[in-house]
Amino acid sequence: MSTGAHPLIRVEALHKQYETDAGPQPVLRGVDLDIYPGEFIAVMGASGSGKSTFMNILGCLDMPTSGRYTLDGNDISRLSRDELARLRNRFIGFVFQGFNLLPRATLLDNVALPMLYAARPAHERNARAQELLKRVGLERYGNYLPSRISGGQQQRVAIARALANRPELLLADEPTGNLDTITSHGIMELISTLNREEGTTVVLVTHENDIAHFARRMIRFVDGRVEEDRVMEVIGDA
Ligand code: ADP
Ligand code: MG
Repeated sequence: MSTGAHPLIRVEALHKQYETDAGPQPVLRGVDLDIYPGEFIAVMGASGSGKSTFMNILGCLDMPTSGRYTLDGNDISRLSRDELARLRNRFIGFVFQGFNLLPRATLLDNVALPMLYAARPAHERNARAQELLKRVGLERYGNYLPSRISGGQQQRVAIARALANRPELLLADEPTGNLDTITSHGIMELISTLNREEGTTVVLVTHENDIAHFARRMIRFVDGRVEEDRVMEVIGDA
């Protein structure tokens, strides 16, 4: 596992372009970045600046066109499909703007899903899913379907699911984008606590300043490049 001295994430000369009808479209244009264990980073930038593309590469859901991505000492480009899937499943939790819960599965089953992929035994999956739902304040709703709870509660379930395999890295792409301010702050407090108490590294995309202020470092993308990288003063630790 990582030590404090080594970056958890190292990104070097990262480029990504998409082939479109109008020719190649550059989206990331030379990103260099080190992220250390326990950091809490807000990624900001205008719509279309490449934030989601960057997050999907960090989450091993997409590959760069060129450049190197090293995660916990592993050069991602050298891993097989299976190795990559395993690394992603045990190392990374991903939270999306749209929650992405399975509509026909109970909250408990949604939370347990990554443990099923990781081939954990049923009794362990159930116990941990219950414990995670409790942690996000939803232990009484384990047998509900997602449609019976609010958007804020669904995002709490998505966070519980992301934590199922105890990831070192939590990636969140506009996790509060569909939520009102009070609900958003509740979600951010949950993520802050996780970062503070368990040392989970958090990289979170937002375009809202009040949300970004929960983080300790802010990275701003402009046209596929990191234009700003600075320490944030924290207001979320009240
Ligand atoms: P952000 O999350 O900052 O809004 P994205 O990373 O989603 O930005 O997108 C950056 C640019 O890449 C946008 O112009 C978008 O249209 C383009 N893009 C994203 N995904 C694809 C794709 N699969 N094919 C072609 N273009 C894409
Ligand atoms: Mg985006």
